[in-house]
Amino acid sequence: MKIQSIETFEVSVPLIKPFKTALRTVTTAYSIYVVITDEAGRKGYGEAPPTHVITGETLVSIKHTIDQILAPVLLGKDLANAEQLFTILHETIIGNTSAKAALDMAIFDLLAQQVEQPLYRYLGGYRDSVETDFTVSVNAPEEMVEDAKQYVAAGFDVLKIKVGIGHISEDIARIKAIREHVGYDIKLRLDANQGWNAKEAVKAIRQMEDAGLAIELIEQPVIKHDFEGLKYVTDHTYTPIMADEAIFSPVDLKRLLEMRAADLVNLKLMKSGGIYKAMQMNKMAEAYGVECMVGSMIETKIGLSAAAHFAASQRNITRYDFDAPLMLAAEIIDGGIQYHGRVVTFANNPGLGINGIKEGVLHDG
Ligand code: MG
Repeated sequence: MKIQSIETFEVSVPLIKPFKTALRTVTTAYSIYVVITDEAGRKGYGEAPPTHVITGETLVSIKHTIDQILAPVLLGKDLANAEQLFTILHETIIGNTSAKAALDMAIFDLLAQQVEQPLYRYLGGYRDSVETDFTVSVNAPEEMVEDAKQYVAAGFDVLKIKVGIGHISEDIARIKAIREHVGYDIKLRLDANQGWNAKEAVKAIRQMEDAGLAIELIEQPVIKHDFEGLKYVTDHTYTPIMADEAIFSPVDLKRLLEMRAADLVNLKLMKSGGIYKAMQMNKMAEAYGVECMVGSMIETKIGLSAAAHFAASQRNITRYDFDAPLMLAAEIIDGGIQYHGRVVTFANNPGLGINGIKEGVLHDG
């Protein structure tokens, strides 16, 4: 079954509340959608948001990479030679991982549709549902407490709290305030988004440990290229440390695993260039006894459906950060994953289960 056409569209959706991390503030979700149509008229869907502070990509670069560089070499290729398609995708251009991810997930959507299986079952089918955390943006402690209480009331029992902005004492004050108000039945995981240096991170984490704040894990405490610093933090604290921005490729992960620089890894399709490489990375981590989380950028339901199908399919993926679509002020996708509070389930229809994109939201960017 050959690839007949590859189209791209630009979409934007406002967020209910600004999303604030140590790296950026987001008020609107932008994405490039890709639709691959095969000879039988089946449509595979993909998505790539422009997360330039993390992947270096913009709306313009994503659209150009897909339309001008990758689509021309994929058109007419047979989906039966999937391994060739993924090789072409990853070797035609370096970097540009989100553009690649959009095409990769659309190809996987079609591969699973061809055998009439939901994608998570096509990929392995380890779990039939997953549970997402919910992210608390960085704000004044009172606002963060109010947000945390609201999310707990809505049924979320794992909160991901953004830290790493301003003085360490402010971060600790925020976490203490949230812990006091939500109690100890709620898991708190922190994400510093590279906001500390190694010694600051050890100081902050040890203070949290001494204060009995019971932090589940801390994501990316130090700048992404500082693997030695990440290892220093991992070796000098008891709290599990998770690598995120440090890890894009299997080669990055090889170095991390050999150094034992982190306890856990956050895989994102927008960093790995899609499911094909993320699958390889999860298996590498599993061999080292390192569990993975799957997270996302600020994406809509196409990207999150791909992430959730991949995550549910694999035993070694034990944590899920799939709250992004819940932050959007409008739903523009018909179908895909379904949210029931913190529980994410899959429709029984094949592939990603996307039925279509609601009228009036697509622009030929
Ligand atoms: Mg992170």
